[in-house]
Amino acid sequence: MSITENLNKIKSTVPENITLVAVSKTKPVSNLMEAYEAGQRVFGENKIQEMTEKWQTMPKDIQWHMIGHVQTNKVKFMAEYVSLIHGVDSLKLLEEINKQALKYNRVIDCLLQMHIAEEETKFGLDEPELKEILNSEALKNLNNIQIVGLMGMATFTENQSQIKKEFQNLKSIFDNYKKLKSENSNLKFLSMGMSGDYQLAIECGSNMVRIGSSIFGSR
Ligand SMILES: *Cc1c(COP(=O)(O)O)cnc(C)c1O
Repeated sequence: MSITENLNKIKSTVPENITLVAVSKTKPVSNLMEAYEAGQRVFGENKIQEMTEKWQTMPKDIQWHMIGHVQTNKVKFMAEYVSLIHGVDSLKLLEEINKQALKYNRVIDCLLQMHIAEEETKFGLDEPELKEILNSEALKNLNNIQIVGLMGMATFTENQSQIKKEFQNLKSIFDNYKKLKSENSNLKFLSMGMSGDYQLAIECGSNMVRIGSSIFGSR
């Protein structure tokens, strides 16, 4: 099947109110352009340099989402254009994003990444750390960032009930902390679900799915 066919098939299973992020990491611009021609405007990348090269060559109405782990010293390369940063997991990183966003007179939307998987290797915050960031005095001074939601990745397993448990856990954290609004935090987006588990994620309350291989093929 072509990228266009894959995309249309996925769109038919993802409700309109759910944001579909087409994860195009490692794929050439020609592949992304096929998705663009088919109407896709939100793309997810996990390396800042690769994303920036694609941003430079592709149409300017694309929203670029950084879904990978972000190194503090690389924020400056995407601050001019990035639309949403999914993988924020420290106040230090928020401060750097704020600093770089200020240079372009922008407010950059961020998601806080939560650690919900069993694996030790994945990045992310636990609930006390989330609480600490959202309640911190330092956050109040960051006028050039907006925390707009949470992101999480389930354990890499075939065990559906394990994945479901982790998604439900993240949804309940999301619902709890949604109430805690401030000047620069208002949780609206719950980014969870990838090619293998997005339907389960949607059932569990996700409103933003990150789908790569089911659109562009395996990497
Ligand atoms: C690569 C990646 C995805 C997409 O994974 P697929 O299984 O190809 O859909 C989603 N989220 C993150 C954080 C990724 O790194």
